[in-house]
Formats: sequence, structure tokens, C-alpha cells
Amino acid sequence: ASAEPLLKVEGLEGWYSESHILHGVSFDVREGEVVTLLGRNGAGKTTTLKAVMGILAKRSGSVMFEGRETIRLPARAIARLGIALCPEERAIFSSLSVEENLMLPPQVRPGGLTVEQIFELFPNIKERLSSQGTKLSGGEQQMLAIGRILRTGAKLLLLDEPTEGLAPVIVQQIGRTIARLKQQGFTIVLVEQNFHFAAVVADRHYVVEQGRVIDTIPNEDLAANTEKLHRYLGV
Ligand code: ATP
Repeated sequence: ASAEPLLKVEGLEGWYSESHILHGVSFDVREGEVVTLLGRNGAGKTTTLKAVMGILAKRSGSVMFEGRETIRLPARAIARLGIALCPEERAIFSSLSVEENLMLPPQVRPGGLTVEQIFELFPNIKERLSSQGTKLSGGEQQMLAIGRILRTGAKLLLLDEPTEGLAPVIVQQIGRTIARLKQQGFTIVLVEQNFHFAAVVADRHYVVEQGRVIDTIPNEDLAANTEKLHRYLGV
């Protein structure tokens, strides 16, 4: 493993106009790792992903990607470096077909997957190629939303609660897909509420509370820390 993390977030602060939401988030991810941000609703996980992606306008601190400071770069420039965000609301265009949805994001770097390669990862959506976005199930929409960002050529994927509201069998499928993406060399930051799912796919977990990372748990220590996690997550 290389010494330098692919992504190093340090003392990240963030605001929605006057509301100060992030109070110094720090975590890092090495190339090829999957890490999660765990925490209660409103802890600041989504806001952290938005700040890393550069779509949270008001932010400070440090976000180093491949050794380069991105905190002052606009989102477009950050995307070009190879970071992509799959938002919680999935943002599938309902009036467009599956294929049209897939073709939407621009390829920002070489190395983006082709539509064929995306269908290899998600055979279910291939069958729905000409269906409209609205006709897809929640699970199919989630797969399309993840598939879509793979076209960009990003090597760091920020996935915001991909399992939310999905049936257990679909959650398992998404878990297998994340495992395959990791095998293919993608690096992933995953926001999750479901830590049973997180345990299957991640190398390490960062617990977010009130806009800070308050604990770091290696995946192998997760089982020994379930009680603590229940407390953190309020479950
Ligand atoms: P969730 O699982 O609910 O998305 P989260 O940990 O991702 O939880 P965030 O969405 O990052 O939490 O929200 C952190 C805080 O920021 C919350 O108090 C929320 O109310 C606030 N917030 C989120 N979006 C906005 C916004 N657009 N404008 C103002 N405040 C916001």
C-alpha cells in the first residue's frame, strides 16, 4: 500500500449560509479502500460528502486528493480530478430512458467505464435499457445512479446511503457490487445507517456526530464494538 492516502480530510468545516454544520471533520482513505461514515440523521455525513465534492459552497479546512489541496477548487475542477458523488436522492431523470440516463454524465477523465462494462456490473439494468427512469424499482434506480457515475472516470466514489429504503435482497446485491468495484480498484466513501451492511463491505468506519468524526473503528473490531455503535447510532 502507498504511504500517502488518496483522500485526506483534515479539520473540514462547512456551512449552509449562516448555519455552521461541520466543525472539523477528519478522516482518510487509501487507494482501494472502502470506508464508511456512520452516524445519526443530521450528524453531517451528507454535508461532508458535499464538502469533499465541492458542492457545499462555504467550507474550509483541508481536503487533499492525490496529494493536492482541493478546498478552494470549484466542484467542476474537483470532478475532473476524479471524484464523483452519487447522491441519496439518486437524481434519476424519470422522463429519460435507462440508456439516456447512463449517457448523461460527461467523461471527465480517461478510464471511465463503457456502458457495456456498466451493464456487466448491473445485469438487471441492462434488461431495462429502454425503460423510462420512472418505471424502475428503487433498487434498479440505485444501481443506475451508481452505474452512471462510473462513466465519468472517477476513481474515488462518494456513495450517499445507497441501501436506503431497499429490500434486503437488493441491499445484498448492492453489497456485492461495491465489493466488485473495490476489486476493480475503485476507492469508496460510503455514508450508511445500516451497519450490518457496512460491516460486509468496508475496511474502516468513521463515526460522525455533530459535525465531527468522534471515533474510528477498523472493520475487524466492529463486532466487539456493537454496543458502542448502537449508542452512537441511537438504535
Ligand atoms: P441524514 O442521514 O439525515 O442525511 P446526515 O448525517 O447526512 O443525516 P446532513 O444531511 O449532513 O446529515 O445534515 C447535517 C445538518 O445540516 C442537519 O442539522 C441538517 O438539518 C442541516 N442541513 C442539511 N441540509 C441543509 C440545507 N440545505 N440548509 C440548511 N441546513 C441543512
